[in-house]
Amino acid sequence: MSKIVGRFAPSPTGLLHLGGARTALFTWLYSKSLGGDCLLRLEDTDAERSEQKYTDSIINSFKWMGIEFDQEPVYQSRNKDNHLDKAQELVNKGKAYYCDCSPERLKKIREEQQKKREKPKYDGKCRELGLEKGPNTVIRFKNPESGSVTFKDLVRGQMEVANKELDDLILVRSDGSPTYNLCVVVDDLDMNISHVVRGDDHINNTFRQINIFKALEESVPIYGHVPMILGEDGKRMSKRHGAVNVLDYKDLGVLPEAFLNYIVRLGWSYGDQEMFELKELIQIFKDGKLNNSPASFSYEKLLWFNREYFLKMENKTLLELLVPTSKQFKQDDYSAKVINLIKERCSLLSEFENEGSYFYDDSVVVDSKDASKVFTEQAVTILKFLVEGFKELTNWQVEDIKSLFNEVMEKNEVGMASVGKPLRLAITGRMNSASVDETSLVLGQEKVIKRVEDVIKSYS
Ligand code: GLU
Repeated sequence: MSKIVGRFAPSPTGLLHLGGARTALFTWLYSKSLGGDCLLRLEDTDAERSEQKYTDSIINSFKWMGIEFDQEPVYQSRNKDNHLDKAQELVNKGKAYYCDCSPERLKKIREEQQKKREKPKYDGKCRELGLEKGPNTVIRFKNPESGSVTFKDLVRGQMEVANKELDDLILVRSDGSPTYNLCVVVDDLDMNISHVVRGDDHINNTFRQINIFKALEESVPIYGHVPMILGEDGKRMSKRHGAVNVLDYKDLGVLPEAFLNYIVRLGWSYGDQEMFELKELIQIFKDGKLNNSPASFSYEKLLWFNREYFLKMENKTLLELLVPTSKQFKQDDYSAKVINLIKERCSLLSEFENEGSYFYDDSVVVDSKDASKVFTEQAVTILKFLVEGFKELTNWQVEDIKSLFNEVMEKNEVGMASVGKPLRLAITGRMNSASVDETSLVLGQEKVIKRVEDVIKSYS
């Protein structure tokens, strides 16, 4: 069997969005899981809309995701001579022809067809005229008139369309520029592409492209068309649904591992397994199931994956990501303990700074409404008991802190909430935090005593 080569072929006319990233990931994983290569081709033939900044951003998006393509990226615009040579080859073989129909004539045919409720299609006037190249000629493909085009889609199974449904499409415009379907076929041939996995919005092009491959007497790649991604409202994913570009997720504080894991599950499954590492996916992707119905995007689910990855990650590794932009975290034991405690409360990297701020900022500010609710006379009494107990502790360990809480609860005949709430508010300035015993442990004896004493002074 010849080598498996897949490709992802974005047009650099915009940033890489979530749907494109998912298609690329599927293409890449499919090729890799079959032991093949995967190439990146930038379809930059639309000179007006293609921009270098989009190419850079697409490449950076893959870098962030940890997806490495084999070989340097291929730029479609640099292969123009080949595109035109192949068009000429088709003309020479009698599989394509010059057409000099004017735009006015084409418009008229279209209008007549519309009136008769027929599918708009070139009527074949120049098909057998054997015209030569002229100033206003285009090259049209001689699509077969009978029979049908069939292929076995990796996702959708058997596909078929009758040739009479297809048009004699333009391969080269009158200005000499090759069109999309010709460029794709020629580039796929030049790059020895064996597998084309792309969005299902390309199905109609696939039938046309297969006919071009056949006319060139070349073997046809294997195709797989992946369904689109819908937003939570069931509509096609777009800017309305919040972040759509891959690097927006990076900026939000999503981990690339979590992002990959989340998008691979949008339309692919492997039993009930949810968590996948890239290394594992490279082995198993071909054995999973590609779904043929649209997948729904859920931001909540993405955040769930992100949190799961925080929990799995070494604290040191997490700190490596946080320290460069943090005013408080350092690569030391104290920060590692803080991170360990708060990570289950964070869904995004960007949430850690605020979630952990009271471990670093000694000026705990308590909201007056919270204070009047929580620092009642009884609560202040409890805090006094606590602070005396804290001072006597010779071992600042979680068991000792917990038994002190029990002692104070018994003495005052109250439950844990009456101890935990005021203590939490006193040491963190917040109504919610990680468990108050662990929080006290990490903050340290001295800070806890100082913060509780400050509250007692202010609210007695
Ligand atoms: N450049 C096309 C697009 O961005 C993809 C072409 C292909 O995958 O064949 O939609």
